Amino acid sequence: MSQPKIPDEQWAQVIEKDGGPITYKKIPVPKPRPDEVLVKIKYSGVCHTDLHALMGDWPLERKTPVVGGHEGAGEVVAKGEMVTKVEVGDYAGIKWLNSSCMSCTFCMQADESICPHAQLSGYTVDGTFQEYAVANAAHAARIPKGTDLAAIAPILCAGLTVYKGLKESGARPGQTVAIVGAGGGLGSLAIQYAKAMGLHVLAIDGGAEKGEFCKELGAMAYIDFTTAKDLVAEVKAAAGDEGLGPHAVLLLAPREKPFQQATGYVRSRGTVVCIGMPAGAMVSMPVFDTVTRMITVKGSYVGNRQDTQEAIDFFVRGLIKAPYKIVGLSEVQNVFDMMKESKIVGRYVVDMTK
Ligand code: NAD
Ligand code: ZN
Ligand code: ZN
Repeated sequence: MSQPKIPDEQWAQVIEKDGGPITYKKIPVPKPRPDEVLVKIKYSGVCHTDLHALMGDWPLERKTPVVGGHEGAGEVVAKGEMVTKVEVGDYAGIKWLNSSCMSCTFCMQADESICPHAQLSGYTVDGTFQEYAVANAAHAARIPKGTDLAAIAPILCAGLTVYKGLKESGARPGQTVAIVGAGGGLGSLAIQYAKAMGLHVLAIDGGAEKGEFCKELGAMAYIDFTTAKDLVAEVKAAAGDEGLGPHAVLLLAPREKPFQQATGYVRSRGTVVCIGMPAGAMVSMPVFDTVTRMITVKGSYVGNRQDTQEAIDFFVRGLIKAPYKIVGLSEVQNVFDMMKESKIVGRYVVDMTK
C-alpha cells in the first residue's frame, strides 16, 4: 500500500505548568524509534488522570512540557524497522502504559504496569492530545479493523482499568459490586463490564442526573452520596441479603471520603479495590473490623497487554455501550473545568478532526 503522507507540524494540547491551563498549540510531529509505531490519532478520551497530570496532583515526576492524553485510538501511519507484528494501515490504541522495559521481574510476569521503567503517555512521554503520537509497538493496543474508534477510545484506559479492577476484586457472577464514582468515565464503563461479567451493580455518585444514567446503564440501585444521611447503612441495605453488604467495592472517585467509608459497608470476606487517585489521599480503616471481618483492601493499576485485548474483546462483541460526548481538540480545558466540578456524566472524547 502507498505510504500515508505525514506532515511536519500538528496541533496538540500541551501541559506547560502545574495548575494549567493546558495550551493548544502547534508542535512538530514525532518520529517513531525502531521499536515504535506512529499512530494518526482519530479520537482520544479525556480521563481524570489527565486532569491530575495538569494539576501536578501526584508524587510522581512528570515531563514538562508534555502533550496530555492516554486514550488514543487511530491508525498506524509509520513504524520503526524493528516492528514486525503491526503494519501501516492497522488500527491501534495508545494507552497510559506507553512502554515498559520487558526485562524486569514485573515485566517478566506480565505485571508491566508496575515496571519501574514504565513510560506513561501524557505524563512521562507525549500522549494522545495530538494528531500523531508514538508508542512502543508491543504495548500499543490491537484494535480490529472496522471498529468504531470514537466509542473504543475510552476502553483504552477507563475500560481496561475497570475490567482489571473487577478481576482483581475476585467477585463472581451473581455477586454484588459497589461502584463508587459510577456516573463518571470509569464508572459508566465499570457498570457495563460488571453487568457483562454477571455481577449486580450498586452505583454510588452524586445528583439525580447521574442516578438516572447509572440505572439506564444497568445498575440495580443508586445511592446519592450528596443526600444520603447514613451512606454506609444505605449501601448495606441496598445490597440485599439482609444487609450483609456488597461482595466487592471499586473505588473510582477522585475524592478521599469514599476511601474512608468503603470498609464500613463491604461484606465480610469482601474486597475493596482502590483505583481512583485523589491528591494526597489516605485509605483508612478500623483494624478491628478489618481483622474480624477478614476484609481485603488492594490497589489496581490499569492492566497488562492481555487485559487490554480482553477489555477490547468485550467491546467488540457489543457488550459494552457507555455513552460519550464528542468535543474538538481545542476544547480540552473546557472538559477539565467540568471535570473539576464533577459535572461530567460519562466520558468526553476528542475528535481530532474537529
Ligand atoms: P470522572 O471525573 O469522570 O468521574 C469521577 C466520578 O466520581 C464523578 O462522576 C464524580 O461525581 C464522582 N464522585 C466524586 N466524589 C464522589 C464521592 N464522594 N462518592 C461517589 N462518587 C463521587 O473521573 P474518571 O476519569 O472516571 O477517573 C476517576 C479516578 O480514577 C481518577 O482519580 C483517575 O486518576 C483514576 N484512574 C485510575 C486508574 C488506575 O489505573 N488506577 C486509571 C484511570 C483513572
Ligand atoms: Zn486514564
Ligand atoms: Zn519492566
